[in-house]
Amino acid sequence: MEAILETTRRFWGHDSLRPLQEEAIRAGIERRDSLVVLPTGGGKSLCYQVPPVVAGRLDVVVSPLISLMKDQVDGLAACGYPAVALHSNQTEAERKEAWEELRSGRPRLLFLSPERLALDGFTGVLSRLGVGAFAVDEAHCISHWGHDFRPEYRRLGRLREAFPEASLHAYTATATERVREDIVLELGLRDPVRLVGRFDRPNLVYRVIPRVDVRRQVLEVLRRHRGEAAIVYRITRKETESLARALRSAGLSAAAYHAGLDKAARTAVQEAFANERIQVVVATVAFGMGIDRSDVRCVIHTALPKSVEHYQQETGRAGRDGLEAECVLLYSVADALRWEELARKGAEETEEGRRTLPARIELIGHMKRFCGTLRCRHRALSLYFGQDYPEESCGACDVCLGEAEVLPDSTETARKILSCVARVGQRFGVSHVVKVLRGSGDEGVRGRGHHRLGVHGILKEVPAGVLTNLVYQLVDQELLDRTGDEWPVLRLNRESMAVLRGEKKVLLQAPAPKRKPRKPRALTAEGEEIDADLFERLRALRREIASKRGIPPYMIFSDRTLRALAARKPETLEEMREVYGIGDKKLADLGPAFLRALRPDPASPGKEPPGEPPASS
Ligand code: ADP
Ligand code: ZN
Repeated sequence: MEAILETTRRFWGHDSLRPLQEEAIRAGIERRDSLVVLPTGGGKSLCYQVPPVVAGRLDVVVSPLISLMKDQVDGLAACGYPAVALHSNQTEAERKEAWEELRSGRPRLLFLSPERLALDGFTGVLSRLGVGAFAVDEAHCISHWGHDFRPEYRRLGRLREAFPEASLHAYTATATERVREDIVLELGLRDPVRLVGRFDRPNLVYRVIPRVDVRRQVLEVLRRHRGEAAIVYRITRKETESLARALRSAGLSAAAYHAGLDKAARTAVQEAFANERIQVVVATVAFGMGIDRSDVRCVIHTALPKSVEHYQQETGRAGRDGLEAECVLLYSVADALRWEELARKGAEETEEGRRTLPARIELIGHMKRFCGTLRCRHRALSLYFGQDYPEESCGACDVCLGEAEVLPDSTETARKILSCVARVGQRFGVSHVVKVLRGSGDEGVRGRGHHRLGVHGILKEVPAGVLTNLVYQLVDQELLDRTGDEWPVLRLNRESMAVLRGEKKVLLQAPAPKRKPRKPRALTAEGEEIDADLFERLRALRREIASKRGIPPYMIFSDRTLRALAARKPETLEEMREVYGIGDKKLADLGPAFLRALRPDPASPGKEPPGEPPASS
């Protein structure tokens, strides 16, 4: 244990281990196969970084994303940890340098892409290097029961045969029981130690809010996070661009990111985000895998993710530093219907689509229930991943914070909507019904004489976005049916009749609740108050040093470290060594500059630094 802590202190300044890290590290040192399931931010990297140092050997990390690999190697270098990577995106010179390093015997970790491993003759070369263990990161990619299957991961099954001496260690953040079994089977793990951590992320505040107006709602959330890093997920490329434009004209530094951009443009956005030149990225789900910024304070979904696994993974990008972060999902059941439609289309078009259809529909259904039910979000997520949630209230979700409100006249509103569906002959879709209820006089309404109906305009005070959301809430609660493929129409069912006859009460969620979420306060991970001005000064210093060195600021120090510095204000290097996230190399390298910045501002009256003459004016 001492050897482990000595290593974590030296490189990262960590004085203790997180849950299951010790067990995972021991398995690595003893070269016993393992399957480690820890939530994002749970500290998986440490589990494969420590063993080769303690054991004095070279291990290999297989990771699916090359961009992440470079970040990892650079980040390790900043801590003085010897690691190299080999992948197809390197220049000849970089590759040569990596090989020279490897031959020197210094590196403890070699990062490889699965494609690289599969290259002919490569296994022979690796064998000669004497690899002690293989860590397979994002191991769920090997399972087609997962949500992120990658065919190239299947080849990792050959590792066992090619390296009978080495141990195999699988790491993932998202794994249901079935995916776990798949990983063990596909990798051929031998009686692995299974370590499954708690999935709950207590520092994330979850909110699921009825979607009525994306632009307005996103802006409202982002205003709570001024100057902080945020990711907004949208479904289509066009949506990302138009929202990014809108945010920029509202004065935010935002950029769009999607797979349709060329590679240079994508890299530019990633780098600008990593270097804190942009605070908000509006992206399709393609964004996030390649970034390693741990201080993302807010993740917004403007539509329903396709599965709880996706949701967990995407929200998992928030608050990886352990500090409070907010995850907002703007929900309409219309999204679920759209995903189901797409899945069915896919099933008609390809064999693969047909085979996976039932699984996909099931995954969408779980996500829909997560959103549509007013129960603790933390608990719901834990239960989904097969874990108990003993806490009575999480204190960190819209439900437990009492933010979700019931629409005061739910039943009356529901009856008006249902009457309208009846009056237009159950032959029209949501948008037409909304138009009639709001008293629209447009062609589609007048042409059919619907402006003469008694229900015309009976909900004209309700904004269209709100009304649309309410109609979908009825569909979600199965108080109304929506059927038909090409042009879905609203139809009444048994339950609708019960509501219309006054036999059934309805509870709808108020799409625009009066109780607004509080603005999160910036505290240290231990809940101490921080000196906000000092924090901003430290951030500026971090940016300056990072830009001089050409690395992203988070590689200098994480926000968590800066906040701890801004709260405790160490005055000596020894005191600074006690602060979170400062290891030997960083203390020597960055300590003096940050100590200077931490001295009380000589310009502010009454705060002269001890032992120094007051600034002369
Ligand atoms: P994961 O890969 O599981 O998402 P990381 O390995 O990136 O998580 O770790 C998340 C954060 O937690 C990092 O900033 C890391 O430095 C920090 N961390 C990991 N282990 C510890 C520890 N034992 N003590 C303190 N911080 C830790
Ligand atoms: Zn809760």
